[in-house]
Amino acid sequence: MFDSITENIYFRTSNTFDSNIGLIKHEDHIVLIDAGTGMNHGRLKRDLNAVGIELKDITDIVLTHSHIDHIGGVLPILDESEVTIHLHKAEADRINNGDTSGTLSQNFGHDFPPITIKGILEEGSILDLGTIKLRVYHTPGHSTGSICLKVQDTPILFTGDTMFPGGSFGRVDFPGGDGKTLVKSLERITSLDFDIALPGHMNPLKHNGKKSAIASYQMAKSWFKV
Ligand SMILES: [Zn+2]
Repeated sequence: MFDSITENIYFRTSNTFDSNIGLIKHEDHIVLIDAGTGMNHGRLKRDLNAVGIELKDITDIVLTHSHIDHIGGVLPILDESEVTIHLHKAEADRINNGDTSGTLSQNFGHDFPPITIKGILEEGSILDLGTIKLRVYHTPGHSTGSICLKVQDTPILFTGDTMFPGGSFGRVDFPGGDGKTLVKSLERITSLDFDIALPGHMNPLKHNGKKSAIASYQMAKSWFKV
């Protein structure tokens, strides 16, 4: 089920192995932030229908990184929709060159098929959806191309698997993960101006998101002995 965060922004908290999924409905743009594993595609379709969205309406999917629990859901959507996929360059270039090992799909017994990522993101990229603009912050550590997305002129930050509630943060033991890099990224997040944190897993923080980011930063700092 998609919960409304603002008039245009919705959030679906996962109760499976899927990542959480954000939804921005604005003017001609229907944008998903992350797409889950794809294993529960029928349910996602019904949840989208419940807020008036058909799969063919989706214009863009912005991935906070390319692990299978975030990117897998792109595949069944691509079957039904002409959608532009956006991902940070560090991970998009590899996928566009045919190397999908970074999705970790093989850990789950699947080969991830080649797809084309047209939206190549970098630090400071702005996704312009008309009056809503999304600003990309490159926050590596959980993976090389992890990003956070700030909805400009709102207190909302999508934190991907970089920062989780309760002083928690993404794991760094997958290929491309690095604890010290994650600590720097968490420190960066604590300097941003936000109150609502929408993470890649666990519950959204509708208040005090920044306070929670500071707790995650301090926890990571002591955990990784930085
Ligand atoms: Zn991940």
